[in-house]
Order: sequence, then C-alpha cells, then structure tokens
Amino acid sequence: MAHGEAQLSEESDHLEDGPQDACGVFGVWAPGEEVAKLAYFGLYALQHRGQESAGIAVGNGDNLLVYKDMGLVSQVFDESALNTLRGHVAVGHTRYSTTGASEWQNAQPTLGATPAGTVALGHNGNLTNTAELLELVRERVGSHVGELRYGNTTDTALVAALFGSYAGRTLQDSAAAALAHVRGAFSFVFCDESTLYAARDPQGVRPLVLGSLEHGWVVASETAALDIVGASVIREVEPGELIAVDADGLRSRRFAEPDPKGCLFEFVYLARPDTNISGRSVHETRVEIGRRLAREHPIDADLVIPVPESGTPAAVGYAEESGIPYGVGLVKNSYVGRTFIQPSQTLRQLGIRLKLNPLREMVAGKRLIVVDDSVVRGNTQRALVGMLREAGATEVHVRISSPPVKWPCFYGLDFASRTELIANGLSVDEIRHSIGADSLGYVALDTLIETTTVAKKDLCRACFDGVYPIEVPRAQHAGVLDDPQLSELPVDTPGGPEITSREAYVGTI
Ligand code: SF4
Repeated sequence: MAHGEAQLSEESDHLEDGPQDACGVFGVWAPGEEVAKLAYFGLYALQHRGQESAGIAVGNGDNLLVYKDMGLVSQVFDESALNTLRGHVAVGHTRYSTTGASEWQNAQPTLGATPAGTVALGHNGNLTNTAELLELVRERVGSHVGELRYGNTTDTALVAALFGSYAGRTLQDSAAAALAHVRGAFSFVFCDESTLYAARDPQGVRPLVLGSLEHGWVVASETAALDIVGASVIREVEPGELIAVDADGLRSRRFAEPDPKGCLFEFVYLARPDTNISGRSVHETRVEIGRRLAREHPIDADLVIPVPESGTPAAVGYAEESGIPYGVGLVKNSYVGRTFIQPSQTLRQLGIRLKLNPLREMVAGKRLIVVDDSVVRGNTQRALVGMLREAGATEVHVRISSPPVKWPCFYGLDFASRTELIANGLSVDEIRHSIGADSLGYVALDTLIETTTVAKKDLCRACFDGVYPIEVPRAQHAGVLDDPQLSELPVDTPGGPEITSREAYVGTI
C-alpha cells in the first residue's frame, strides 16, 4: 500500500484499503534557533504518519502558543504563521485519528492547564484504558477542564487533563505520576512554557528517538525527522522513560519498568525507509524480507515489479535473490492521495487507477511478480491484478512482504475491523482466488521477525498472530465494537478494566 491514502475519499474501497498510520510527533528545545521552523520541517518528514491535521506549539519562557488546523503540514502552515510562533521550545504533531473524530477540536498538540502554566501535548499511539482515565480525571479535577470543555474527544485530552491534576507539583512530577495510570501505546512529546518532555509507554510500541543539535535537543517519531533538521541521533527514548530538557540540561527518569514490545509493522510499512529502528535500517530490513520472500516463494517469471512505493525495497530484494530482472511496471500518481478534494462518482469508480497506472510497454506479454507490503481487505491487490492483466501481463504472481494480517491493531494503527480483513477466515489459496492472482505468497512470520534482528519476545506481532501484549478492552476500538469475534481475542498480559462503549466516553465530555 502506498502511504497517504486516507484523504482522497472515505467512501472509496480501493483508496481506503491500506493500513492508516496513527500520528507523527516532534519536539525541539533549542534557544536561539527558529524552533517553529525546525518543527515544521520535522513534521514534513513525518507527514506519512498522519495527514488529517497538523499543529505546532511554541513556548518562549512566559507563554505557550499553539497553531493547528485540519490538513497537511504544507496546508496548515505558511511563513507568516510560523513567524508568529517564536520561542525556544516547540512540539509538533501530524494526526491520523484513532480515538476521537477527525475534526478541528481533536487536532494536536492538545492544551491543558497545569498548576504552574500550560502544557501542549502530542501523542502517537492509542490508549487502552480511556474509561479508567476518564474516571480518574473526573475524580481529580472534573471532566470540564482543558480541551475536554471544548469538545475534544481524544484520549490525549484526558492525559493532558491528568497532567494538570496534581496540585503543587512540577509538570515533570505530575507527568511521572499520571503516566503510571496510562495503559496502551503512547509516544508523548509535550512542553510547557520552558521545558520539552518526551515519554514512551513501557512496551515502547510506537517509536520515539532522541537527537541532539549543536545547541539543543530534538525528539521525534523517526530518525528520518532528526536527519532532516540536522540533528544527530543519540538513542531511542526507552520504554517506560520520561525525559525532560531545559536550561538545566537533559534529565531522565523511569515511570514504569520496561517490557519492550515494539511494533513489527513499523518495519514492514509504517516507518520511512530512511529511518532506523533499534539500530536497524528499515530499508535494509525490507530488502532482506524480499530476499527471504524469494527463497520461500520462488516462481519462474520475466519481471519483478513493486507496488510503489512501500513495496519497492522488498521487490529489489526479491529480484536480487531470484535473479529475475527488476523493473517499474506501475507508476504512482504521487500527490493524488494528498488532496482533500472529494473525487466525483466517476473518478471514484476508477479506484486504484487514480493512484497507480500500469506501464504497458513494460508489462505486456510478461509473466510478472508483483511485490507489495501487506494485504488488508484485498481490494487494492484485486484491482491491481486486473489492471495488469488488462495491460497485457500473461501471468501475475503476487508476493507479500508481511504475513497475513488477521487481527486488528489497538495500539495506534487503523487497519480495518477484523471482519473486513481478507485473511480472517480465508486460506492463502482462497485469497489468491479472490484477488485473481496466478499465485500468492506471504513471507513467514518468523522470517519477518528474523530480518528485524529484534528478539521475538520484544516485538508486538498482534495483527499477525493475535497475541496482544497489552490487554485490549473489548469495546474500546470504534472499528470493532460490533465484532462478535472479539470475545476470542487472546491476551498474554493482565491489564486494566474493560470499558462499556466508546460512545459513552464521548458523550460524557
Ligand atoms: S498490532 Fe500490528 S500494527 Fe499494531 S502495534 Fe502490534 S504489530 Fe504493530
């Protein structure tokens, strides 16, 4: 799936077929630098992680100002907007909604009042104990505080309210106390008027990295965002770690014992190829997955083509290992997924053709191996196979650089409900038949894990094997509220209480 599919049309199956990222976060503390512009370029590098809204908050020691709106980073900010954001500390956010609708009130950074001032909070991930947090916020300060008062329905607004609920404590101490109550996946980047903070959940599900500038510090979802602002990568923010940066330097403390369960899907699709995760190049990992895929699912063919762009490194690896030539057979209309203009009904019927166009000269008369990163509903692959046959391909063999996606993600990635996942209930051959391919091969889960060089026990693989490392409340995820198979969810760790419905949570704020 190509990144950036969410915006074109919520009604188009073909264009909504891929997994949707959850958010990108960026923070910088750098006196003397134009921190808003650093945040802007950092967010630009993280645009693939969220394209619904963007925002930057800047602190100057006395005040905290936030600017946010619906749209892409380039649509939300211009030079004059950035020039109004002056200070020495900034946090930025690009959003794809998981909890809370895609609307202005829910754009981030989210503001909250603290005993000493204001906090601006950006969140990548998805919390699993929002009902418990809501109760806690109600008990401590009531639910008419901060952005909750203005209709913000995100789990992030609850955390911002919780941060402000500890009278007489510094934000650093309040955050450490509050974070001990928060369950689920979170990479938080936040600031007050003077200090930059970053915190990562004890499982470290979503990535978060720390970098340094000549006179400052940066935190970001991916190392690629550090590169783009000229920051050197220092290390990952550790699972269960809270970092604070201000004129007194960098301070680190633990708010929970680490139990690493990093997201395996970051390696497959979510992260940029020029990012490193756990010291491993994402691009190199994807090329290696392609090599292994060629060994596990060889086939005689004339040409290996990727589904651009996320299938490209694995296709390179497949071609390299198999000795079958690599070529471009599909051309991507790169910017069509980045528009907010709703396509007409006629255009919607074109589906995937709006985004990908076959190169007839390359594919006609050839036996093709088409490499993609994942299959969610199968609509994209079905349309692609049909399109390539129409363009003259004699055989279309589909190879997938991840195992079948059988389970939904509750930790900040929006695939689909379980019933919509094509691999839920269908065998590989039935999926092959459904998408119309001559053959279909997925890389094995253990092979994929090996290519990351991360220990299996330190990875979340729940969307592939259904073993959820953090307890999932049955009714929390909007996309699976009505899924009868949720009662079958295997869970391998104990956690917080169930909530009865997300609507109840929304309705009480
Ligand atoms: S369920 Fe899948 S996408 Fe979600 S965190 Fe786990 S590995 Fe990543």
